[in-house]
Amino acid sequence: MKCPGCSGRLHAVRVQDMSLDVCGRCAGIWFDESELGRLIRASALNLETLDRKFEPTGEVEKVPEADRECPKCGGGLETYKYLYDSPVILDSCHNCGGIFVEDGELSAIAAVRTENDDPAESKAAAIILAGHLEQMVRQDKSRAVFLSRVAFYNRARGAAQFSPEATS
Ligand SMILES: [Zn+2]
Ligand SMILES: [Zn+2]
Repeated sequence: MKCPGCSGRLHAVRVQDMSLDVCGRCAGIWFDESELGRLIRASALNLETLDRKFEPTGEVEKVPEADRECPKCGGGLETYKYLYDSPVILDSCHNCGGIFVEDGELSAIAAVRTENDDPAESKAAAIILAGHLEQMVRQDKSRAVFLSRVAFYNRARGAAQFSPEATS
């Protein structure tokens, strides 16, 4: 397959249980639909290590982003920001869902993810979540108390209605 980022060719490289297409010239990587997400979620694999595994060979003349074509289906690639608003700009095919990641961009994704996983921020999120849970439990408890009262009232009323003493 032809590399969308330069005049090089893509070669299949096995990474974990995935077969990635890596350019022998610009070191860009083509990910089929969902492969990039799977790779990012596979915490055992370091994105930066994978990024460094492939390096461009000499000077590479890059294809302008507007002219990039999908190596799989030939559709035009469109740029988009990773995680909607990060500074990492990837090229994706709207037709088949594939994504082209240039050399260095995997490390950039790793950096964005580390930033998002900021311990202070996740601690704050955990505290908010704990608060929500506590509130839910409280609401549930008061609801349970209310329901048991209703049940008690109904039982008492039922007992009053059906007991011979009450009717006499
Ligand atoms: Zn290339
Ligand atoms: Zn495509």
